[in-house]
Amino acid sequence: MGELGLLGATIKGYGCAGVSNVAGALITRAVERVDSGYRSSMSVQSSLAMGAIHDFGSAEQKEKYLPQMAKGKVTGAFGLTEPNHGSDPGSMETVAREDPHKKGYYLLKGSKTWITNSPIADVLVIWAKLHETGKIRGFLVDRDQCPAGTLETPAIKNKTGLRASITGMIHLEDCPVPKENMFPEVEGLKGPFTCLNSARYGISLGVMGALEDCIDRARTYALERKQFKGNPLAKYQLIQKKLADAATDAAYGTLAAIQVGRLKDEGKATPEMISMIKRQNCDRALHNSRVLQEIFGGNAVSDEYMIGRHVSNLYVTQTYEGQSDIHSKSRTPEATHSTKDMQIVPTKECVCATRELT
Ligand SMILES: Cc1cc2nc3c(=O)[nH]c(=O)nc-3n(C[C@H](O)[C@H](O)[C@H](O)COP(=O)(O)OP(=O)(O)OC[C@H]3O[C@@H](n4cnc5c(N)ncnc54)[C@H](O)[C@@H]3O)c2cc1C
Repeated sequence: MGELGLLGATIKGYGCAGVSNVAGALITRAVERVDSGYRSSMSVQSSLAMGAIHDFGSAEQKEKYLPQMAKGKVTGAFGLTEPNHGSDPGSMETVAREDPHKKGYYLLKGSKTWITNSPIADVLVIWAKLHETGKIRGFLVDRDQCPAGTLETPAIKNKTGLRASITGMIHLEDCPVPKENMFPEVEGLKGPFTCLNSARYGISLGVMGALEDCIDRARTYALERKQFKGNPLAKYQLIQKKLADAATDAAYGTLAAIQVGRLKDEGKATPEMISMIKRQNCDRALHNSRVLQEIFGGNAVSDEYMIGRHVSNLYVTQTYEGQSDIHSKSRTPEATHSTKDMQIVPTKECVCATRELT
């Protein structure tokens, strides 16, 4: 991915490709068409770890990490979720105290869980509450600078979804981190939420790629599989409806995400818009993949047909970075005014996207 320029693709400079938000999300769509796990690893590296460093890091932090991360030589992770706090990260328990014995250092203590890339990460973005102020701050934890026993990142084994990406925990036991590794200014949930906003945008188009692969596979299967008087399944209207519903949701979701990406490129996208398309596209991708799975009958249970893998993956995409129901909270009447710019304007890119689907 690093060699192809896919990592941190929307970042300008530092050896990154510097493409538009729409182009960046089209990359996530292409990768997720293969597997949501590959896209998750890529998104965590790009939007969450590199994005945090790019948006909130000091000049030295950016120079030190971004060029190596763009090449894929340094792997990043983003530690926000904790065993007791997922949807409610503001209640996090991980804390950073000034080291009483070593000036210029903080000691980080706490646990994070369900962290993509954590077992293999060289640098971990850790969100923790500063003991003195109670405010959330971001820290860059360099694995190779942590004394033995202060940082553990065990993998979570036997996952039923996103099996192509590595997920783990992060245990910090008075892990010493130099003050220059703290993001200098950002405080509170603004830090993690800004990064999540970008990653959620990528997910909104990414899941459309997974759904498109489900449609493609289900269509092929329905044309080949014959039941009752030698007719292909595709001849039956109930089967056609499943495919038509899924193709409609994929086309609408793709167009909406491209429109929000254009607004993001113009600096006009709001978090409510991104929340809306992340929620809607993940919900529709999961729902349609589950319905399309039925077309495969018993064969859906076999790995060989791939549809079950997408269904399990899409459950995760609907859950992480704000579970679907949690995103519904940002669609209150007060929030709707900021979505008025979301009207779809068909242009060349949209036409190309829909042509691919048909
Ligand atoms: C494979 C995988 C990779 C992940 N990668 C990362 C990562 O890299 N970094 C990271 O920080 N996190 C990561 N996560 C964590 C993910 O973001 C959380 O799982 C997600 O935010 C949900 O939190 P939770 O699992 O603690 O669920 P909970 O917060 O316990 O929620 C459980 C259920 O209760 C519902 N619920 C919660 N509160 C309310 C409420 N007030 N009203 C109504 N319903 C409510 C939720 O919608 C959900 O359905 C990952 C998760 C997975 C599965």
